[in-house]
Amino acid sequence: MKVFKKREPQTVEIKNNPLTCPVCSNNTFWVRKAQLNSAISTFFKLDWTDKSATCFVCSDCTHILWFLG
Ligand SMILES: [Zn+2]
Repeated sequence: MKVFKKREPQTVEIKNNPLTCPVCSNNTFWVRKAQLNSAISTFFKLDWTDKSATCFVCSDCTHILWFLG
């Protein structure tokens, strides 16, 4: 799995809605781009995806929100 790191937590919008952490209501996240390997994709039955995911890690409580594609 390849992970690309950004330096600072940032605010995120999903479909024009600001993303907030469901756990602590924080609104800044570290952004990670993850390349899913085929074993993981098959395990989660994600063969129809482009096998890449974006995850946002809450900068406060570190809860992770995953988005495919
Ligand atoms: Zn949080």
